[in-house]
Amino acid sequence: MRKKMDKLKQILILPGDGIGPEVCDEARKVLIHVNEVYNLGIIHKEAAVGGIAYDTFGKPLPDETLEAARDSDAILLGAVGGPAWDNLDYQLRPERALLGLRAELDLFANLRPAILSKHLSDSSSLRAEKVQDLDLLIVRELTGGIYFGEPRGRSEDDQSAFNTMVYNRNEIERIGRVAFEAAQKRNKTLCSVDKANVLEVSVLWRDVITNISKDYPEVELSHMLVDNAAMQLVRDPKQFDVMVTGNLFGDILSDIAAMLTGSIGMLPSASLNSNNQGMYEPVHGSAPDIAGQGLANPIAAILSLAMMLKYSFNENKASASIEHAVETVLSEGYRTNDLEGNDDKKLSTSQMGSKIIERLN
Ligand code: NAD
Repeated sequence: MRKKMDKLKQILILPGDGIGPEVCDEARKVLIHVNEVYNLGIIHKEAAVGGIAYDTFGKPLPDETLEAARDSDAILLGAVGGPAWDNLDYQLRPERALLGLRAELDLFANLRPAILSKHLSDSSSLRAEKVQDLDLLIVRELTGGIYFGEPRGRSEDDQSAFNTMVYNRNEIERIGRVAFEAAQKRNKTLCSVDKANVLEVSVLWRDVITNISKDYPEVELSHMLVDNAAMQLVRDPKQFDVMVTGNLFGDILSDIAAMLTGSIGMLPSASLNSNNQGMYEPVHGSAPDIAGQGLANPIAAILSLAMMLKYSFNENKASASIEHAVETVLSEGYRTNDLEGNDDKKLSTSQMGSKIIERLN
């Protein structure tokens, strides 16, 4: 990615497929607005990714897009994929673009907040009192572990298959530090999740995380086995503030946490490298079932922009103002189609974006 040689911050928007372009349109509207109001000095441009890029350039992550990504300070991605591309070879599938961007930009730290707006506590799969004011952050290692470990493959006789779970000290240490830093800025508690009763990798994980904790004396560290963590997340999620874990466990736990908040259309995420440069995207996919109908909830994309302003640009005021505007709109009862509420306050994708901008003023 681009070195910060000048003051202008460059954002690359990758709308992608399905509802990706619809939700990115709204995030862009909000970006243009806050850029002006807070004088952020941000410029943005767009490139193709996913299925649409395959259709135009023959691959889901075209060279020009990768070049533009490297050249930007932060990326906002909509979503990729859809039935039109489901039968392509693995290497050509739209989802490969995400893995390619993560690997090329070394986006090893995935931050997934699970925040339940107090105005939406009835949307959760748990009883309202269990999740009221839920605000937790899962920090997942994204570029290592069993998804990338070698060797992987099939035995010669095709009777077995194997993957390798491997982490080195350096990989654990860098994700650990991201988590401790985040915990330090929040409630100063960190739960590290592993499977140290069975896996050697987890024993090392636990050692390294415990070691780093000496540098963060204010943060209270605990360790939990992943099976217990999954259970505790649905039993009493508010016991957690920041959780840190490896790639595989984080994949599963962050989806459990997402469901606690009711709607997938509300959840942002960030994937950062060691310079805090990163890719920001809604947790949801391209939702082909509702694409092109103005039914998509743009809040996850808009909150992804808010995360970008906070984590990549340190523009905390502008970021908080977006989060506040979203809360205000929800408190007034406005909803998109995926959220329960009164019919007379149902808004389309672009109406929701515009309403949030109105409340930013
Ligand atoms: P999905 O998240 O696209 O949709 C799941 C359900 O949630 C659907 O009913 C959809 O209508 C609804 N939904 C999702 N986002 C919404 C929003 N913003 N507002 C309102 N409703 C919303 O997951 P899926 O159906 O499993 O996957 C569809 C496609 O997306 C697949 O091709 C998949 O590979 C891809 N995908 C991409 C990403 C990504 O780009 N990061 C992530 C997950 C899935």
